[in-house]
Amino acid sequence: MKHFDVVVVGSGPGGFTSALILARQGFKTALVEREKLGGTCLQRGCIPKEGMYQIARSAHFLKKRLGVSVPLDFEKALLKVRERINKIEENAKFLLKKEGIVLVEGSAKLVDEKVIKVGRNTYLKADHIILACGSRQKEAGVSAEDLLTGKVKPKGKILIEGSGATACELSFILSVFGFEVFLKVEGRLLKDYPVEEEFVEKLERELEMCGVKFTTTNEDADLLVKATGRVPNLCEEEFPFLERDEEGYVKVSPYMRTNLQNVYAVGDITKPMGASHAIAKAKSACQCIMGCPQPYRPELVPVVICSALELGFVGSMKEGRRIVKTLNANTKSFVNGWNGMISIIVDEEERLSYSSMLGECVSEPMNIASAIIGSALWDQFFFSNNYTHPSICESFSDLSLEFMFNLLNL
Ligand SMILES: Cc1cc2nc3c(=O)[nH]c(=O)nc-3n(C[C@H](O)[C@H](O)[C@H](O)COP(=O)(O)OP(=O)(O)OC[C@H]3O[C@@H](n4cnc5c(N)ncnc54)[C@H](O)[C@@H]3O)c2cc1C
Repeated sequence: MKHFDVVVVGSGPGGFTSALILARQGFKTALVEREKLGGTCLQRGCIPKEGMYQIARSAHFLKKRLGVSVPLDFEKALLKVRERINKIEENAKFLLKKEGIVLVEGSAKLVDEKVIKVGRNTYLKADHIILACGSRQKEAGVSAEDLLTGKVKPKGKILIEGSGATACELSFILSVFGFEVFLKVEGRLLKDYPVEEEFVEKLERELEMCGVKFTTTNEDADLLVKATGRVPNLCEEEFPFLERDEEGYVKVSPYMRTNLQNVYAVGDITKPMGASHAIAKAKSACQCIMGCPQPYRPELVPVVICSALELGFVGSMKEGRRIVKTLNANTKSFVNGWNGMISIIVDEEERLSYSSMLGECVSEPMNIASAIIGSALWDQFFFSNNYTHPSICESFSDLSLEFMFNLLNL
């Protein structure tokens, strides 16, 4: 039986990040993957979505600002995007080799807390095991993943069912690419996300302006796409002994340790889902294995939803003083007609507990906000930091200045 310091199962952002960090720290590492390298994120999710989104966004901007329509072809665009994905996969393989990580192809099973079985008769013994098996669509039917891999081609009138990030993102992309899009939402759009109602309403209006039609009924359509949620990808028979919650997520400590001492679980098999969370969880599990434990703190993980507008947020929406402003005073946002908004929540001890932005190019500023969540020095940090000009980040400086000098109408 081959022995490793660490065996990681799953090569999505959770597994790949873990393997890379630990190998670079000198751990003898194996990475087990049963499909293509990169997981949902690279192959079927975040990255193809980002590629298609940027094309849609550029075309949408020209239409909105200048009335110029760019003829778009979904299949051609996807081909371009997938070329880049293949290249990323190739580079990732090269990186694994360079770092001495052994890639084991096949389906893994947990035999006991120190042994993983791959395929029929490969057994890997490990001092530590990290499970990062990801998630899969909850309901049967065509998924966003099917469209982003080219397995299913979009056509004519498309009905998308769902109220989460994927429903928001896909409806925008398909609508800009010229399809007639109906979005069937039960309850409120983004109801399970920590986002403010007025931001969601503004996003809905913007989606409608892009041609997305909201509905609560089952429209007749050429294609029905399910975006109704995902479930952890870990079947009981292959991964026994692990404690799970009632929804099937693996129960973990703040250091991502499962009920088995040497087994960690990261990524979508633990709550909450999302690639930025998967990476944060992976870092935490690795730090624990490396002997310098740092808990995973979900409230410090920024998230962005890329739709008719981008909606970024970080922190927790606790009680506190809420400050909301338009980004009209921000020259980058205003000159481009981006119609942005920013909000923060400051708790009773003056700590920054939440920040969100709606507009364009808001995903990068959220990374700055995440660095100062939970601190009472947030206003000085935002003010004394320097920013490129023009940039959306400058709005943090403006907001903190107004806060420090009590210029805000609270
Ligand atoms: C359309 C779409 C768009 C998305 N966009 C974003 C976004 O913009 N930003 C964001 O933060 N998140 C986004 N997500 C979510 C993101 O993709 C996931 O949260 C992330 O990929 C989870 O990472 P992971 O490491 O847990 O697992 P995954 O990326 O799902 O990878 C798991 C891997 O494990 C392998 N595996 C599973 N079981 C076994 C086994 N028994 N043996 C061997 N291998 C196994 C699978 O084959 C897979 O490759 C999106 C998701 C979708 C579907």
